Amino acid sequence: MSNLPIPASEPVVVYEQREGRIKYTYYDNGIVKITRYKGTRKIYWGRIFAAMIVFMLLMMGIMQSVKAIAASLKKGDAKNTEATVSVSDTLMQSSSKSGSSKAGSAVTNDDTSSQADKNADNEPLYANLSLKVCIAPAHGGASDRGAVSPDGETAECDQNLELGMLVKECLEKSGVTVIMTRETDEKLSISERCSLANQAGADLYVSLHRNSVSGDETLCGTELWINNNDPKYDRTLAENILEKLVEVGISENRGVKTGYSGLPEQNYQVNIDAVMPSCLLELGFLTNSVDNMQFEEKKNEYAQAIADGIIKTAADLGVIDQSGKRLIPDQLISYEKNGVQTY
Ligand SMILES: [Zn+2]
Repeated sequence: MSNLPIPASEPVVVYEQREGRIKYTYYDNGIVKITRYKGTRKIYWGRIFAAMIVFMLLMMGIMQSVKAIAASLKKGDAKNTEATVSVSDTLMQSSSKSGSSKAGSAVTNDDTSSQADKNADNEPLYANLSLKVCIAPAHGGASDRGAVSPDGETAECDQNLELGMLVKECLEKSGVTVIMTRETDEKLSISERCSLANQAGADLYVSLHRNSVSGDETLCGTELWINNNDPKYDRTLAENILEKLVEVGISENRGVKTGYSGLPEQNYQVNIDAVMPSCLLELGFLTNSVDNMQFEEKKNEYAQAIADGIIKTAADLGVIDQSGKRLIPDQLISYEKNGVQTY
């Protein structure tokens, strides 16, 4: 049946054995008009099985590749996060500076990525910082409650102390020696607080407050105050703390300010009496509900941000190197404050 005739000019049907079936081809005037098959199509199980194996292997290969790409992206994200928030990376960032700058000189450098990537998988390098910091939770005692919330429930002195103790904990985790001006609800004068820090040899001083305003409960945000001579060390401290707080999230960035609120020629006493770089932090308004809500929700993160800003400053100013080793023999002094004897 397979010997095909040459189609004639009259209609003709050709039978042909094809893969176990009979193929009928109807020619008309030499042109194929109709094709039909009769019988059961032969199924090539071997070929189908081989194709399935090839397909499965291909899918497995694709899945492996996707997994590998996802893992590498995840690792990349983790590194980026560490570069942003980790104190160890902050110190790695500073290491490039302290190598090229003299101890005590304020420098700025935003190149964190290369060093951070190199050290992202390593243990923290800041376990034992040779650094002394004074944390001053402002107000305290029955006669000085500080600002009070509109409902009269919350006193600033209590929140300052609560935050101060959290900052202390964060700093001590990094091996920093912390001098607290108070750890209970007691009153110390500002002179007493500063003397404590000066005599203990603290390198940096941070006074913790919450702000308030009468008659405007919409006013909100965070600001820091430094001496009105705008000393560069003090500014570095205030800006670093503010930058870290902004990363956590504050209602409004009111910036770093010099002098005294409403009296730019004057200073907060702490920014005169503390011989080391100092700043006064007003962490949101106790008279604003959004700031109060954020304080309650984020106080642990705020404490870590303040600690990170402090340690970054110590590195930026060349007090410590990347391993936490001290680079200057004595207490860090801020020489540019108005209203204080410099030496
Ligand atoms: Zn206050």
